[in-house]
Amino acid sequence: MYRRRQKWLLLGLCAYCGGTKEDARKYCCHNCTSRQTESARTKRNKRKNLGLCCRCDCEAIGNVKYCMKHWVEAVCHKYFGRTINCDIATQKLIQQNFKCYYSGLKLTPGVNASADHKWPKIRYPKRKADVSNMVWCDIHINYMKRDLTEYEFINMCKTIVNFQRRKK
Ligand SMILES: [Zn+2]
Ligand SMILES: [Zn+2]
Repeated sequence: MYRRRQKWLLLGLCAYCGGTKEDARKYCCHNCTSRQTESARTKRNKRKNLGLCCRCDCEAIGNVKYCMKHWVEAVCHKYFGRTINCDIATQKLIQQNFKCYYSGLKLTPGVNASADHKWPKIRYPKRKADVSNMVWCDIHINYMKRDLTEYEFINMCKTIVNFQRRKK
């Protein structure tokens, strides 16, 4: 099987069916590409309908298509730009007692738990992959904070509260 594929590849043919390839740089022909995409989609949908993680046979959590382990992995991937420090990230969530770092709101994995760069990555790119810069917080709080530092964000919240009090 492997040998046959190698031979076809060397001959510039589709590795799956041995037919002509439309794009010489690709591994297989258009037909085989779409067949593969289709079968992958069917598999994914099947898992989704069963409420399973799209990466393994564990049950999916919250509103996401991942189990706990693969959800943390996906969060870390997005956060660090690659999949690293997943165990540390999980430990942090436990250490925070599943509570938002800024608001104390309850965090539910796969629902409202999100990873935040305390020192925003846009302004402090060097701290993007710094694990000590990672905290878990409520997703809406994360949107509100955006590129503010912790100090700026808390001050902003105080400004809002004070202004609203004066209005009454
Ligand atoms: Zn083919
Ligand atoms: Zn999984």
